[in-house]
Amino acid sequence: MSKVHNFSAGPSILPKEVIDACVEGIQNFSGTGLSVLEVSHRGKEFISVVEETQATLKELMGIPEAYEILFLGGGASLQFLMVAYNLLETKGAYLKTGVWAANAVKEAKYMGNVEVVASSEDKNYSYIPKDYTIPADADYFHCTSNNTIYGSQMQSFPESPVTMVCDMSSDILSRQVDVSKFGLIYAGAQKNMGPAGVTVVIVRKDILGKVSRQIPSMMNYKVHIDKETMFNTPPVFPIFAVLQNLKWVKKVGGVDEMQKRAAARANLLYDEIDNNPLFKGTIAAEDRSQMNACFVLNDESLEEKFNAAWKAAGISGIKGHRSTGGYRASMYNALPIESVEALVNVMRNFNK
Ligand SMILES: *Cc1c(COP(=O)(O)O)cnc(C)c1O
Repeated sequence: MSKVHNFSAGPSILPKEVIDACVEGIQNFSGTGLSVLEVSHRGKEFISVVEETQATLKELMGIPEAYEILFLGGGASLQFLMVAYNLLETKGAYLKTGVWAANAVKEAKYMGNVEVVASSEDKNYSYIPKDYTIPADADYFHCTSNNTIYGSQMQSFPESPVTMVCDMSSDILSRQVDVSKFGLIYAGAQKNMGPAGVTVVIVRKDILGKVSRQIPSMMNYKVHIDKETMFNTPPVFPIFAVLQNLKWVKKVGGVDEMQKRAAARANLLYDEIDNNPLFKGTIAAEDRSQMNACFVLNDESLEEKFNAAWKAAGISGIKGHRSTGGYRASMYNALPIESVEALVNVMRNFNK
């Protein structure tokens, strides 16, 4: 099989050695002669996988001691509701910067009062709002660090007078983040951390236990914390795969290295988008995402020809989201710069 350049938006590319380590774990887990798919999650081998995954993530992200790390099912989408279930008493404050952020708002409304402090919906989510005030009487402020569908990214986080909660599904581990600024961070694994099926929640314990409502067990962060993220059977295999990926991140140089690679990939592609007369970017330049680069052809009638050209070069997954059209090149941690070079070459040759 010839090389495929995988720009998939999610589930997304993983390093080959991570895939290989997963195959090995499926065939012979920790030398047990059994598959990781067929052992108890309460056995010592798997408990040590969970502990090592937590420890490695702590190390990579510099997560302070006061935080707990949970591995939950239900996707980032369940966190939209779970955050509000556990934190919303008076009011949740939300920054609405895209489809996922809007979904977070929608789910929070099931739990109570929501204030959207700012939205970029007026311009098809093509920028990140900057002039807004986070109300001091909110229970928390929720934002989305990277807007996967539109391709915008918060370049910095505000000083929040209240607990800050962030959906980092599509840029976690791609840049340094000061975790201590946040009360809770969550991320579906399938973009930058591993396969689909597990969501990582990083939560500072002292923000919990403050709402008056009853919280059913599965929805209750405290229950999951008390049971060391094994209240029910955790997503065993996705956690195993996340660990293999975290080990890879650590081995190649940690988050600093991921950040360098992300900048190199994004600069290369945005340079081409900005300088090639056939294309234009769809996001305000200062808010562009290093993970998802969205662009369109100035002349839509060239679409079929362009599609044929990138497909012929072995490029996969750059069609824009069904709600936005155009193109989206997702450049997550495992994407080699050579894949971006391949895409840029196609764009250059297409202009010639
Ligand atoms: C993909 C994505 C989601 C949805 O994740 P699921 O795991 O499918 O629920 C939420 N937020 C962001 C930022 C995403 O990129």
